[in-house]
Amino acid sequence: MSAKLFSVDTKYIFVTGGVVSSLGKGIISSSLACLLEARGFRVTIQKFDPYINIDPGTLNPYEHGECYVTVDGHEADLDLGHYERFTNMRTTRANNITTGRIYQNVIDKERRGDYLGKTVQIVPHITDEIKRNVKLLGNTGDYDFVITEIGGTVGDIESLPFIEAMRQLQWELGTDALCIHLTYVPYLHAAKELKTKPTQHSVKQLQEVGIRPDVLVLRTERDIPAPMRRKIALFCNVSPDAVVQSMDVPTIYQVPVKMHEQHLDEIVLRKMNVPVEGEPDMKPWMHFLDKLDNATETVTIGLVGKYVELQDAYKSINEALLQAATYNDRRLKLVYIHSEKLDESNVEEKLSGMDGVIIAPGFGQRGIEGKFVALKWLREHDVPTFGICLGMQCMVIEFARNVLGFADANSTEMDLHTSHNVIDLMEEQKSITDKGGTMRLGAYECRLVAGSRAAEAYGSGSVSERHRHRFEFNGEYRECFEQAGMKCVGENPATHLVEVVELPDHRWFVGTQYHPEYSSTVLSPNPLFLSFVKAAIAYDTENHDK
Ligand code: GLN
Repeated sequence: MSAKLFSVDTKYIFVTGGVVSSLGKGIISSSLACLLEARGFRVTIQKFDPYINIDPGTLNPYEHGECYVTVDGHEADLDLGHYERFTNMRTTRANNITTGRIYQNVIDKERRGDYLGKTVQIVPHITDEIKRNVKLLGNTGDYDFVITEIGGTVGDIESLPFIEAMRQLQWELGTDALCIHLTYVPYLHAAKELKTKPTQHSVKQLQEVGIRPDVLVLRTERDIPAPMRRKIALFCNVSPDAVVQSMDVPTIYQVPVKMHEQHLDEIVLRKMNVPVEGEPDMKPWMHFLDKLDNATETVTIGLVGKYVELQDAYKSINEALLQAATYNDRRLKLVYIHSEKLDESNVEEKLSGMDGVIIAPGFGQRGIEGKFVALKWLREHDVPTFGICLGMQCMVIEFARNVLGFADANSTEMDLHTSHNVIDLMEEQKSITDKGGTMRLGAYECRLVAGSRAAEAYGSGSVSERHRHRFEFNGEYRECFEQAGMKCVGENPATHLVEVVELPDHRWFVGTQYHPEYSSTVLSPNPLFLSFVKAAIAYDTENHDK
């Protein structure tokens, strides 16, 4: 990474979206951050979510997909996962703020009497609180650029206070603030035409609330001809060179390159009066893309979970696997296996083609028996297997039932009255009744036993990974498991909680109480995923040679 050549006061970039949702504001924000970092700047991205929940921790994955976890233990929107995967940044709770949190802060202040008898209103009190949260990151002095992604779509009632706060900030900050508006240019098959009207309307909507976007990024499935882009520029009061298209690409990791080809990074720097010097250093990124492009052989990984019909439910696991496969020079073939539909009659058919299998994290009873059936088959057939969080807990339960002979062994999450509570509620969780933000969350140290698969994978005896759970391996059973061959090879040094279990006499059978997928990035893939995929490839090769 090139060194920062000059210092700039913190600049604020706002990313809004119009026309439809799911346009990929998170990917555009991440791509811009990736390019700015590759130019030597220090960048962070924050996301404002316009819903009332304090954080997405209490939402089920059908609502907004995976819940991401930051190092400091904040349950966050999955876009923060993109931010981290595309860059070197580590996000914290300051990087994801909901309407609920803004209101909670304002109401807390009102109750304390901080407003000195004033009537508390959306403008200025809510908007001031939003502005405070934007500047909070800039004021740390740690960043040259703070990119703020405004969730939702312009025109939504619930986004209005955020848009108003952004308008005020643009007014206060002048060229230190910039607005990138992302819209959609649909192609109408019947008319055989791209249509710019929705974009014009969406920009008009922004202008109605006093915001003139500086840059337009147009999502499209077809190339938008230059004259059409000029027309959009003219109608939308944007300079013609600041209309950039974002065409569908086979992988999101190509987006930074596509954005750079159209000079998005330079346009932003120029508009913010930052000298443009040289080119971003994208060598490591291009190395990854080359590998992704050139891999011809496949590695087939099964993912056993109950949300397999939702493409975003296991987002970080999917991406960590893709990164690991790519660095192992393989194309990832990910096969989703619905745990609710898995039983003894079909387990062989569903799992026998897999080179490796992940048992997914999760909560509650639904689909759990399918995970036990899968684990028994995988253990008995010595297939590389990776259990993550609930997946690790299931590994422990299956082993207790079928190897230790504790027929009703379970987690007290599923069965309060089991006679063998091999997974049990953590002591500090026992008095907690609130659901929001009360799990064991965030990064904790884990000491690894020398010579274990996990220690070898990391090349270290101590790692720090992120957690999100209430239940734990019940230490009273530790002896019992170790004697029968399931080793506790990772432990938290302060609490002695078991964080990693494995079967050393198997090819690769590892369970982690933590979520290693959260820390895996394009330029720094997670070692445990790399090691698991490597083992899957070796198993595949062995099978071929038979
Ligand atoms: N439900 C389990 C617990 O709370 C596992 C959670 C998870 O997989 N993230 O401990």
